[in-house]
Amino acid sequence: MDFEFSREHQALRKLVREFAEEEIKPIVKRADRESKPPMDVVKKAAEIGLLGAPIPREYGGLGAGETGYCILMEELGRVDTSVTTIVGAHIGLGEMSIYLGGDKRIRETYLPDLCAGRKFAAFALTEPNAGSDAASIKLRATREGDSYILDGQKMWITNGPIADVMSVLAITDPALGARGGATAFVVETQGEGFKAGKYEHKMGLHGSPTSAITFDNFRVPQTNVLGQVGLGFVVFMQTLDIGRVSLGAATLGGAQAALQAALDWAKLREQFGRPIAQMQSIQFMIADMAAEIEALRSLVYRTAWLVDHGKPFVKEAGMCKLLGSEIGSRCIDRVVQIHGALGYSRDFDVERGFRDARIAEIFEGTNEIQRILIAEQMFREVGVRIRP
Ligand SMILES: Cc1cc2nc3c(=O)[nH]c(=O)nc-3n(C[C@H](O)[C@H](O)[C@H](O)COP(=O)(O)OP(=O)(O)OC[C@H]3O[C@@H](n4cnc5c(N)ncnc54)[C@H](O)[C@@H]3O)c2cc1C
Repeated sequence: MDFEFSREHQALRKLVREFAEEEIKPIVKRADRESKPPMDVVKKAAEIGLLGAPIPREYGGLGAGETGYCILMEELGRVDTSVTTIVGAHIGLGEMSIYLGGDKRIRETYLPDLCAGRKFAAFALTEPNAGSDAASIKLRATREGDSYILDGQKMWITNGPIADVMSVLAITDPALGARGGATAFVVETQGEGFKAGKYEHKMGLHGSPTSAITFDNFRVPQTNVLGQVGLGFVVFMQTLDIGRVSLGAATLGGAQAALQAALDWAKLREQFGRPIAQMQSIQFMIADMAAEIEALRSLVYRTAWLVDHGKPFVKEAGMCKLLGSEIGSRCIDRVVQIHGALGYSRDFDVERGFRDARIAEIFEGTNEIQRILIAEQMFREVGVRIRP
């Protein structure tokens, strides 16, 4: 076993940490208050190569693997969840679905521009009546000559209003349903018949743009199919599996930032004539945070190692998402408590962190769904199928 990061990965962490401190930290409050995606900062991240972290060099990426991508997401997650979400949807869902499902031509057409930040990506699965039950999607793709015509709606799409390129899952054979009758497409959003809805008003992630998307008689060439016709559900589920590892990394960063804020404040704040750091109740909260973060760190980077070495990782990826989001929520809840009234003040970062952290238990498959997926894998290992 080797618990050391490679020199390249250490250098990447240093680069991202400096970038996040110098470029992102100063604009976080403004983006939250104004509900405006800080795209100038995201473009700067592209200039130093960060938007192609896991993508192989031949397609314009950094070739830093899943481990490198997790380092990027952890370091961004330490500073701002909105930027992390924009970048995560762009790389982990948008680019990754194109990389996993695209042939050489599709990869060469889209990935270099996405890695360089000349274009932005999104990933459209959820629909008004298909959230956790993703297989019940209704958006229809009908073959017409060399094209498919898309009609229907997607909901809650991160980067929806700013994306140039979008991976979309649509039903091509209603008789077969999503498993066998759904096809993944990469579409260019400038096409006629594409419409992004208004920005959703969310509890947190104010700097991350989310909207519904409507496809009305929207034409996409059949050469833009990702993977095989009828097997798009597999491309989308594989993308989400990998995405869950990096979501665990992002929540790790958020939890680490919460712990640091707890330590800093507990040293400063005095009550009953001594720093609150000397109160056992505060010490216990900090010890619990530190222990949980350490366990999460091991899980996330071991799972990234499994991905990078081509080993099975689906169960562990679900665990990264499940534990990461719950540890992240618990840590930010504790740090609000440690700050007392100030933790409830909009002037303090921990209040924003509290609002921003909650979503990780919901998106990319709710935690209830993760528990189902993990249990499914556990039973599969002992030869039992639990899905009807
Ligand atoms: C900020 C934000 C960004 C998002 N970004 C994207 C994106 O980029 N692309 C995209 O496609 N989607 C995106 N989503 C959608 C997100 O993935 C879904 O919201 C999520 O999968 C849950 O679906 P739902 O909201 O319809 O909840 P529902 O499926 O309606 O679930 C409601 C509740 O019922 C529970 N539940 C449902 N079924 C079961 C079951 N079988 N067993 C136990 N409990 C169950 C759920 O866990 C949940 O607690 C985003 C959502 C948000 C809020």
